[in-house]
Amino acid sequence: MTEKKTKTKEKKFIKVDDVDQKEPKKVTRTTKAERREKATGKRVAAVIFWLLGIACEIVAILLLCRKLYVTDDKLLMWVLIAFAADLVFIIIGSQFWKRANDVDPASEENKVKFWLWNQMGLIVACLAFLPVIIVLLLNKQLDGKTKKIATAAAVVGLLVAGLVSFDYDPISAEEREAAETTFEGEAIYWTQWGKKYHLYEDCQAFHGSENIFVGTIESAMDAGRTSLCAFCEKRLHDGN
Ligand SMILES: [Zn+2]
Repeated sequence: MTEKKTKTKEKKFIKVDDVDQKEPKKVTRTTKAERREKATGKRVAAVIFWLLGIACEIVAILLLCRKLYVTDDKLLMWVLIAFAADLVFIIIGSQFWKRANDVDPASEENKVKFWLWNQMGLIVACLAFLPVIIVLLLNKQLDGKTKKIATAAAVVGLLVAGLVSFDYDPISAEEREAAETTFEGEAIYWTQWGKKYHLYEDCQAFHGSENIFVGTIESAMDAGRTSLCAFCEKRLHDGN
């Protein structure tokens, strides 16, 4: 006979920093230069993955133009493999890019620059699929079936890479600065998934989350938790 587990899930608080859950304490804030340094590794990784993605696209173009020769029966397979690798590299690169921008966000002062910087992943996704789509559409040597399937695959690749690389809610340097000032030294909570950070250890959004991380607002933001939970925000304003 197996014993039934009736116990409700215990929440486990995992301390990321030495913060006091009752009293805010003084913390040394990182400077802009330190944040930039922390983000550099992620930015370099993003660029490397993006270049690998574009290299795969170049291989696909060389295959389609028959500069890189494979037999006809293998052509479509290799082109699809190149597209798949292209997509994976672009997506990984874009995740590194987004994480770097959580750690070291761009200033909102110049709106155009802010958009372009945050949506670099989307721009690279276009670079990684649009040229090969044009090559496919202009190609006259390919048989109809290969051309159709390869074009469809490249369009799907472009859409998926674009949607996944797009940053739907980028934080700005000003927003991060303001949040760090407001919640300096306080215990901040976040869970394994999502983009939210919380102010209360018993927030109703934690329902079902087993592991809750506790740390400073800086650690929360570095972990990509850059927007304040709506429940916690309301509770803060209601003052209870
Ligand atoms: Zn909350």
